[in-house]
Amino acid sequence: MNLDELVRKNIKKLLAYEPGEQPTEEGWIKINTNENPYPPVPEILEDIKNAVNDKIKRYPDPSALEVRKAILNILLRDKDTLTNRNTVIIGNGCDEILDIIFKVFVDPGDEVVFFYPSYGMYTVLASQYDAKGIEIKLNEDFSIPESAYNAKGKLMFVNSPNNPNGKSYGNATILKLCSTFQGIVVVDETYADFSDKTCLSLLKKVNNLIVARTFSKSFSLASLRFGYALADAAIIKEMNRVKLPYNTNYLSQVAAISCIKHRDKLYAQNEKIIEERKRLSEILNNFNGITVLPSDANFIFVKFDDKSITLKFIWDLKDKHKILIRHFNKPGLYPYIRISIGTKDENNKFLEVFEELARKYL
Ligand code: PMP
Repeated sequence: MNLDELVRKNIKKLLAYEPGEQPTEEGWIKINTNENPYPPVPEILEDIKNAVNDKIKRYPDPSALEVRKAILNILLRDKDTLTNRNTVIIGNGCDEILDIIFKVFVDPGDEVVFFYPSYGMYTVLASQYDAKGIEIKLNEDFSIPESAYNAKGKLMFVNSPNNPNGKSYGNATILKLCSTFQGIVVVDETYADFSDKTCLSLLKKVNNLIVARTFSKSFSLASLRFGYALADAAIIKEMNRVKLPYNTNYLSQVAAISCIKHRDKLYAQNEKIIEERKRLSEILNNFNGITVLPSDANFIFVKFDDKSITLKFIWDLKDKHKILIRHFNKPGLYPYIRISIGTKDENNKFLEVFEELARKYL
């Protein structure tokens, strides 16, 4: 057997996705992967515990009908969006939704458009499926450049709010992209619950839009893996044809229903995150030598005037203070750090250390 000959050529040269560190030991302040710092509320944990029963010997409902109904009838009831249950599909996190979209639409060599910077998985998936990735650089202020309205391809990925820069895009922009792009526009709304913008209402107006969402961030369920997408029923039908039969497990389905039931408590926790985002941004903006970008997500993106200092901060935070933040070793992003919003105590500890490092380096 010659493994080298067997592995697909594009996989051999693939740069795999690099997830942020997930330390297994205790004691870290982990503000590097945009998780929610608060656990699901006790009622949800109780529902999950009670679901650990003999039902786990059976396969879960492949289409998660109860969750899909709850998403449409309760969670999104006020969002002026599609309501037919054939317009929603569930996934093992938003990442699997993205993978399903590639599986349905992308042949080797097809053009797939995404913006830079944005979520790294779009490029990785394009490489996995041997697509031709067309990268459009966002403007200096991270707005969408005019050239995007002439872009051609099968799929276009818009991340709103954008990871890592925190900017969200309004419906006029998304609508213009949907009307000028000949293929399908995928709006990744992983962080939309931390923003006052969502393009869900546009699903009634255009038929080439997929909105992808997740329970990982605003619903504190990153580990259980539950995401979903809404689109025209004809698109969802194709997506369901390639979806693995039991892609979301029984416990995650129970947890998702419980999150929807207790959503007001979860949204209240998110309000604390939004308040902390404001407080952290204001305090950090008072330091000379750095700029905090406005953010609509549960993280902030901070730019150092002197990019040679960035790594010193990151290493000191990690090695001396057990604080993990995120840095991207990518063109144009060296001067930036991305800080997920933690609990008030975590943020205070971070600020205390940051001040100490600012005295040393800034
Ligand atoms: N999209 C974006 C923009 C993200 O930042 C993430 C998580 N890092 C995902 C999708 C995937 O989220 P999940 O699979 O946990 O739902």
